[in-house]
Amino acid sequence: MKKSFQKILSKSEIYTINITGLTHEGQGVGKLDGFVVFVDGALEGETVDVKLIKQTKSYAVGTIVDIHRLSEKRAEPFCPAFGRCGGCSVQHMSYDAQLEFKTDTVRQNLKRIGGLENVQVYNTIGMEKPFHYRNKVQYPVGSCGADVKIGFYEKGSHNIIESMECNIQPRESSDISEVVRGFFASRRISIYNEKTGKGFLRHVMVRIGFKTNELMVVLVVNGKKIPKAEELVRLLCERYENIKSIIVNVNTRSTNIILGDKNTCIYGQEYISDYIGKYRFNISPFSFFQVNPVQTEVLYSKALEYAGLTGNETVFDLYCGIGTISLFLSEKAKKVIGVEVVREAIDDAKKNAELNGIANVEFLAGEAEVVIPKLYDEGIRADVVVVDPPRKGCEEVLLKTLVAMKPARIVYVSCNPSTLARDLKFLCENGFEVKEVQPVDMFPWTGHVEAIILMTKCGSEDKK
Ligand code: SAH
Repeated sequence: MKKSFQKILSKSEIYTINITGLTHEGQGVGKLDGFVVFVDGALEGETVDVKLIKQTKSYAVGTIVDIHRLSEKRAEPFCPAFGRCGGCSVQHMSYDAQLEFKTDTVRQNLKRIGGLENVQVYNTIGMEKPFHYRNKVQYPVGSCGADVKIGFYEKGSHNIIESMECNIQPRESSDISEVVRGFFASRRISIYNEKTGKGFLRHVMVRIGFKTNELMVVLVVNGKKIPKAEELVRLLCERYENIKSIIVNVNTRSTNIILGDKNTCIYGQEYISDYIGKYRFNISPFSFFQVNPVQTEVLYSKALEYAGLTGNETVFDLYCGIGTISLFLSEKAKKVIGVEVVREAIDDAKKNAELNGIANVEFLAGEAEVVIPKLYDEGIRADVVVVDPPRKGCEEVLLKTLVAMKPARIVYVSCNPSTLARDLKFLCENGFEVKEVQPVDMFPWTGHVEAIILMTKCGSEDKK
């Protein structure tokens, strides 16, 4: 019979635990009298003294009081806010150790959930310089008396940790946020209060085109016009001549969603541009755009390699977003059909194809699991299918249609190793085999794991 937790664990006592694993959020996992304990900041192989801060019937959460045996994978976090900020979760691990952890996470999931014992998982492709890799930052704004605070939310709360140099954000962003902070503080323009729904400035968003160096600043406000906006524009543009767009976004709703529906451009144009590979994209405040453009190019190049195109193939790009993978594949394919559930993203995808003069792509709005069975019934088939689903993975009805369609190759891009493993298991039980598994680090210093997989029909001689 299971012991009751309440009987054996006390919050005032200190327990010694051996850490035997890590969760994907980077928490150490150990056992105490048979029960699982999650410990923030502890690494596999370490022995730690912990105090318990939470317990349920099946697990407990502890904080470190002391570490007896340090893992050789441990590194000094570079950010003073590490542990408090809701951003990075594995800065206490060396970058090499993170990459190993991500490779291992994929391998373990494929084995445990997918029953795939013998597939080789390549080492995670990391970044040469895993800093300032993001092209977008969204700062919440708050106030403390007359003081204006701009920064990041504390882990698990909406308290703001004031903006410090953040080593994963664009270099210019903390400086820009400081200009905005100074402007609003000195003009005594009010700051939005989530609890009362009153006050003016809510968020500051900065986007940058890595290849174009174009900057966009978006001020999200609970109202219509920023008083003396022309002064703020002057202050910002004096500082950065590469600012191409300053936008006021109106959000008067009581919601956690950052952007409201209405944009007014108060300087320059309504979008900035950037490139992935040789393809150009126009990015508005609302546009979805991969946040790590350097690794996106690495990932998409793998997708192109795994697709093995010769110029005669029809390709489905499912969960296509704004059509980035579709454009990447279009040059080597006869035709690409992109499918995506968000209609605005499909509108952007069509514009992006036009912007790049690409005519052999078609974009359809709808759920992949509805659109693809319909196309299949109409006799439309793909030789190569790329899927890049959200965390919940693919619906079984979609996978069943792919099994019936029998494309020569399936390229699966995944941001969640457990649903990936589930879906690969289904495909492997139904005529496909895994040829290549390549994790790519899209989000250094966080526990996020992304991987790309090549599958072919069983027994096919199709080689990369
Ligand atoms: N391939 C794109 C986007 C991947 S993110 C890129 O690389 O940029 C996953 C996308 O799947 C999101 O754009 C989301 O809106 C979309 N999506 C979610 N559920 C879907 C479904 N059932 N059918 C089609 N698209 C879906």
